[in-house]
Amino acid sequence: MMDLQKLEEQISELPLYTYFYVKPESIEFSDRIRYICKAECPMYGRTWACPPAVGEVAECKAKCLSYENCLVIGTIVEVTDSADIQESLATRYDHEKITNQVRDLMKEQGVQPYILSTEACAVCERCAYLDGLPCRMPGKMHPCVESHGINIIPTLEENGLDFVYGTNIVTWYSLFFF
Ligand code: SF4
Repeated sequence: MMDLQKLEEQISELPLYTYFYVKPESIEFSDRIRYICKAECPMYGRTWACPPAVGEVAECKAKCLSYENCLVIGTIVEVTDSADIQESLATRYDHEKITNQVRDLMKEQGVQPYILSTEACAVCERCAYLDGLPCRMPGKMHPCVESHGINIIPTLEENGLDFVYGTNIVTWYSLFFF
């Protein structure tokens, strides 16, 4: 059993914009989001962290719903121009670092969360998926939230957060199912 109070004390020290808990069954899973991956994301079919490698939306949903709780963390960064993809993407690495810090805090308590994070996996220079080989570092690879068909917007709204996407603001979210 995880000591949530201890975890909260620790994560409140991290540079997070927000964190809160939700019940996995309150999260919206939708095939429409998967359709957007397929139709619009250049990473579709290019890493183990993306569809179709992650499985059908129904399988992803079943996996997430097999956990009792979900911790959501969010970071927010100011950039000079959020239309500058390179600059915006660079901020993602700081978010990933914080995601791994939270993972380590949970692991210290003997909890192995199932983590969904941002964008496609960029741990290896060339993903093993492209060569038909198994993932080299499954422990470090976090599929992205959208890859599981998750529409995060209603979850944010239910928790009093707007999905702000100002011209100079970039927000990133990770989910930890445990
Ligand atoms: S850890 Fe490497 S092999 Fe695994 S999904 Fe990420 S890039 Fe691909």
